[in-house]
Amino acid sequence: MNVYDSERVAGLLTQEGYELTAKLNEADVILYNTCSVRELAEHKAVSTIGTLAGLKRRRPEVVLGIIGCMAQNRRKELFQQLPHVDLLCGPQNLVDVPRLIQRARQGERRLMALDRGDYEVREEIKTVRRESQHKAWITIIEGCNYACSYCIVPRVRGKEISRSSSAILEEAKQLEEQGYQELTLLGQTVNAYYDPAAKIDFVDLLALLANRVRIPWIRFMTSHPGKTDRRLFEAIREYPNLCEHLHLPFQSGCDRILKEMRREYTREKYLELTREYRQVVPGGTLTTDVIVGFPTETEEEFQQTVSLMEEVEFDDAFLYKFSPRKGTLAAKVEDDIPREIKEERHQILCRVQDRIKRKRVERFVGTYQEVLLETKSKKDEGCWVGRTRGYHKCVVQANPDLLGRIVDVKITGVEEDTLRGEITGDGCQRNNVGAGLVPAQSSISFRAPTRGAPTILGISFFVFCFLSSVFCFLSSAHAVTHQESLEWLLLQEDYETLANRGESLSRDYPQAEYFYLSGLGYLKESQFDKARGQWSELVQHFPRSPQRVKAEIGVADSYYLEGKNEEALTRYLELHKKERKGEFHPYLLYRLGQCYQKTGNQQDSQWYFEQVQQRYPNSPEARWAKTKLKEGTVFSVQVGAFSNRRNAYKMERLLSEKGFRCYVVESVDGGLPVYRVRVGKLATQREAQRLRAQLTEHGFSTKIFP
Ligand code: SAM
Ligand code: SF4
Repeated sequence: MNVYDSERVAGLLTQEGYELTAKLNEADVILYNTCSVRELAEHKAVSTIGTLAGLKRRRPEVVLGIIGCMAQNRRKELFQQLPHVDLLCGPQNLVDVPRLIQRARQGERRLMALDRGDYEVREEIKTVRRESQHKAWITIIEGCNYACSYCIVPRVRGKEISRSSSAILEEAKQLEEQGYQELTLLGQTVNAYYDPAAKIDFVDLLALLANRVRIPWIRFMTSHPGKTDRRLFEAIREYPNLCEHLHLPFQSGCDRILKEMRREYTREKYLELTREYRQVVPGGTLTTDVIVGFPTETEEEFQQTVSLMEEVEFDDAFLYKFSPRKGTLAAKVEDDIPREIKEERHQILCRVQDRIKRKRVERFVGTYQEVLLETKSKKDEGCWVGRTRGYHKCVVQANPDLLGRIVDVKITGVEEDTLRGEITGDGCQRNNVGAGLVPAQSSISFRAPTRGAPTILGISFFVFCFLSSVFCFLSSAHAVTHQESLEWLLLQEDYETLANRGESLSRDYPQAEYFYLSGLGYLKESQFDKARGQWSELVQHFPRSPQRVKAEIGVADSYYLEGKNEEALTRYLELHKKERKGEFHPYLLYRLGQCYQKTGNQQDSQWYFEQVQQRYPNSPEARWAKTKLKEGTVFSVQVGAFSNRRNAYKMERLLSEKGFRCYVVESVDGGLPVYRVRVGKLATQREAQRLRAQLTEHGFSTKIFP
C-alpha cells in the first residue's frame, strides 16, 4: 500500500509541474513515505532521514518531508528528533502534499497535515505516477475495522473506507489500455471491501474486474480469515485472470493467543479454511504472516504455531517477532518474552518454513509455468527474474526484449528456494483473458520531464516499507541511477560501495561529511581501523563541524563492536563527561550500561541502564535498557555480526550443519540493523570459553558475549 501511496503522491506532484529525479543531490524536494507496523521500520526511517541533515545544511532550500504512517503516529515528536525536516503528512492527507511543499518553499517550517476530519475516499487523487510499466497496484479499501491488540494500523490509517467500484473499474481499464500485465488489489483487509452504493462486495468486485478488464493477471492482498469463505476460492478457480494465490495471515496457532490478539477466529476455523482452499483451488499458492513472542506466549503455545505451519505447509511466510507499538492494547501488557526467546522462536520457524518452502517449490520441477519477467538478474548474466502466477520467484534465461512479458517457461530446477527455467517455443504467452494477444510491449513509459511547466523542480522519491519484497523492488528500480549519492548508498545498505568507492563519489560533499559517511560504511563492513581513521581525520581537521560528536561516538562504537570493551568504555566515559545534556546522552548512558555488562561489572551496568530509563523514559534507549535489565547475564559465543540478513542466515546454516546450536540476534545499532550470529546460552564464562575453543577448532573466529 505504501508503494501505491507513493505513486499517487508522485502523480499529484507531476500534475503540478514537478519532475521526478533519480539524483538525490539534484532534488529540490525529498519525501519519505514511511511505515509504522514494527519498530525496526521506524528506526530505519529515522536513521536514514537523520543522515540527510548534512544535505539540508548544504542546501537549506531543499524541502524535506515525511509522509505516511510514521508521520501520523509520531507526529510533532519527529520535529524534535529530526529538526531538519520541514513537513509531516499522514496517509489520509496525501492530497495536501503539494500545498505543504508550496508553503515550505515560501519559508514556512514545521508544517503538518495529519487530521482530515472530512476524509472520505481519496478519489481526489486522479493521476498515479507508476514506477513499473508492467505491474500496477490499486488500493481498493483504506483503513481497518478490526482491532487486533498488537496492531497500529487502525490508529494510523483509520476506519475502513472502500473506494467506489466504478472508480476502481475505471482505473483498471486505464491500466489495461496502458498494457499492464499484472494488477494487485490492495487493502489491509482487502476482502472486507464493500461498495454500499452499488451493493458490491469483494467477490463481486473480483468478478467485475475479471470479466471487464483484460489484464492477464489480477491478484489481491491481504485477506483476513474472518472475511474469507468458499465464494472467494470459487472465484479464484473460475476466472482465468485471477492468480491462484491467497495471502491469509494466521498470526498464531494457539487459540488462547489468538483470543489475546483479538483475531476473531480459532485455529480450527483457520485450518478448515485452508483445507477448503486447497480442495477448491488445487495447486494454488498459500502464504501467511505469523507473530512469535506475543506477550505471555508459552513454549507449548509456540509449538502449536509450529504444528500449524507443519500441517498447512505454506508456500511462503512473513515471520515477525512481536514488537510493542505504543497506543495498542498489547503494548499495555508487559512484554514478558525475553528477546533471546523471541529470537529463538523466530529461528525455529524460519527453519521450518525454509524446509517447507523448498519442498513446495520442488513440486514444480518438470512442469510448465507462466512467468512475468520483471528485472534483469544481477547474479546470472543473460537471465531475468520473474514471478509465476502463484508468486514463486523464477530465474529465466531470456532475450532482453521479453522484459515485462508473460512467457511460458519449463521449470528445470530449483536453486535455494528459487525456480529456474527455460523459455519454451517463442516464449509468448497467449492471452487467456479474451480474444487476441496481450500487447507486445506495454505502451506506458516514464514521461520525459515536462517542458514549459510552471515550476520545474526535482523530487527524489523513496519508500520505506515493512514488506521487504516491495522495498527490494523499489530499490532495484532505483539502484542504477542513484549510485552517485552517498546518502543513497546508505539507504540501500550498500556499505561496501560506500566504504570502498565513497571517495570517488564525494565531489559534491564537504569533506567533513564525506569522512563521516564513509566512516559509517567502513563500520558496517566491520573494517574498524578504517572507520576510526575516517572519523579521527574529521575530529582533527574539522573540530567545529556538526558531525564531530557523531564521529567521536563512532570511534567509541567501533571499539565496542570490535569487542575492545575496555577501550570503548574509556571513550564513552570521556564523551559522557562532555555530552551530559545533548541529544546523544541517552545513547551514551545505554552504551555505558552495555560496556559495563560486557566487562563483568553488573552493578555499574545496572546503574546506567536505570539512569537511561529514569531520565529519558520515552527514548528507544530506555526500552532497550529495560530489555537488558530483564535478560540477566547469559554467556554466548558470537561468530559474526552482519549488516546483511542473508549473510547472517548463511553463517547460521553453516554452523548448524557442523552441529552447533546457533541463532541470529537482530538488533539496531546506531539506528541501523545488525544481525549477530551466536552460539550457545551458557551460565558461566568458563563454559563459554570451552565452546569458543571448539568453534576455533572448526576455523571460526569468535568473541564471548555476556
Ligand atoms: N491486515 C492483515 C491481517 O489481518 O493479517 C495484516 C496487515 S499488518 C499491517 C501486516 C503484518 O504485520 C501482520 O500480519 C502481522 O503479522 C505483522 N504485525 C503487525 N503488527 C505487529 C507487531 N506489533 N509486531 C509484530 N508484527 C506485527
Ligand atoms: Fe492490523 Fe490486520 Fe488486525 Fe487490521 S486486521 S488490526 S490491519 S492486523
